[in-house]
Amino acid sequence: MTHVVIIGASLTGTSCAQQLVQSDSDVRVTLISDELDVAYDRPPLSKSLKLGAALPRVDLDPQAHLKSANITVLAGAPAKSIDIANKKVDVDGNLVSYDKLVIATGARARTLPAFEIAGAPIVTLRSLADAKIIQERLESKTAPRVGIVGGGFIGLELASALSESCQVNLFEAQANLLSRVLPKEISGRVADRHAEANVSIHLSAEIEEIEGDSDSVRLTLADGQNFEFDLVVLGVGAVPNDEIAGQAGLTIDNGIAVDETLRAKDDVYAGGDCCSFPLALTGSRVRLESWRNAQEQGLHIANQIVSGEHSAFDGMPWFWSDQYDLGLQMAGWPNSNSQQVIRDMGETLLCFELDPDSKLSAVSGIGPGNSVAKDIKVCERLMAAGRILSAQELADPAVKLKKLLKG
Ligand SMILES: Cc1cc2nc3c(=O)[nH]c(=O)nc-3n(C[C@H](O)[C@H](O)[C@H](O)COP(=O)(O)OP(=O)(O)OC[C@H]3O[C@@H](n4cnc5c(N)ncnc54)[C@H](O)[C@@H]3O)c2cc1C
Repeated sequence: MTHVVIIGASLTGTSCAQQLVQSDSDVRVTLISDELDVAYDRPPLSKSLKLGAALPRVDLDPQAHLKSANITVLAGAPAKSIDIANKKVDVDGNLVSYDKLVIATGARARTLPAFEIAGAPIVTLRSLADAKIIQERLESKTAPRVGIVGGGFIGLELASALSESCQVNLFEAQANLLSRVLPKEISGRVADRHAEANVSIHLSAEIEEIEGDSDSVRLTLADGQNFEFDLVVLGVGAVPNDEIAGQAGLTIDNGIAVDETLRAKDDVYAGGDCCSFPLALTGSRVRLESWRNAQEQGLHIANQIVSGEHSAFDGMPWFWSDQYDLGLQMAGWPNSNSQQVIRDMGETLLCFELDPDSKLSAVSGIGPGNSVAKDIKVCERLMAAGRILSAQELADPAVKLKKLLKG
């Protein structure tokens, strides 16, 4: 029986474990989690956190595969080190031997030294435990005042989730929201929707002074404005959990560096937010923090372990975000020389990134609910097929995207 040890029991780790035991009865899995809560989904934490409601816990294992006799879950026990030469993982002092190792340690929320004020209500949001702290703190106040630092997806989603019950101010250092990932036509719609919900967004915000005690946090901006909050949430990105892999001698390059098959070394795989890999679409090494990538990489690793054959991972980058009644989706990987083409269909808007060779490299869209999903899916197929496209046709809402698939 092959013993697969998986470090990390979130999306990558549980997808991998479920696929292993479903596909091969001759595999035994040990799933190691430093969190006590295992196999819950993270996206609802920022989208559905409400005061006076249950925590938004969504189970990643509704069919209870993790309770299979072939899976042992060690929860609340961190893997402290990996001995690659002897194929062992130290789990809180106990040595666990493996035939194959999967590192799925994900990422953790970035913090900023200036915000490390002992005892002050300043937090990040990555885990169910973080969500509980945020909810409890805000529920203990009347008319709670929240400051969110960072206008990335997690900060914006949390602002939207809390806007009905809290006074929310959000501070973004750049001149536009999400300027590194979205065109301003789309991020402008996001900003307008937040303004409608009375979320105050401060762009080009330079936080000059941060003071805090156990009761509140005070922020002063470079332009002299002062704010006092019951809670400050930092949403300033994430860093890969790659330390134990680095200490074990694996290569670290913006996360654990794996090859196109997601192998870091013989019998050692890494997938999801903790690793960087050569993107099939461009050949460039990237690290993605996205749900679909984590799930697909977990499955891909499992399939290789079961089949005993190596194959390149060729997933397409894809990301979504929900804020209020708006759904955003992005797919592909923009090229720095690409031309932006906008298709404005009123309530929905698509932005295409067209390469100098007239191939689509990325697309993003915004609209009510799931309205852009079908178009984004067609664009994924256009990208995978490497279709040559015309900017005029892409911009014209009268031209069906599906028609362009036929070439
Ligand atoms: C609030 C939030 C909202 C999100 N929303 C979206 C969204 O809308 N769309 C989207 O595409 N993506 C979204 N994501 C990203 C998506 O959830 C992640 O890409 C995904 O969770 C990555 O899965 P993972 O298993 O690779 O890593 P993680 O989910 O980070 O899990 C890694 C696990 O490993 C554990 N671990 C780390 N080190 C050790 C160790 N030494 N020993 C044992 N265990 C260890 C960690 O504690 C964690 O439990 C969101 C993420 C967050 C936090």
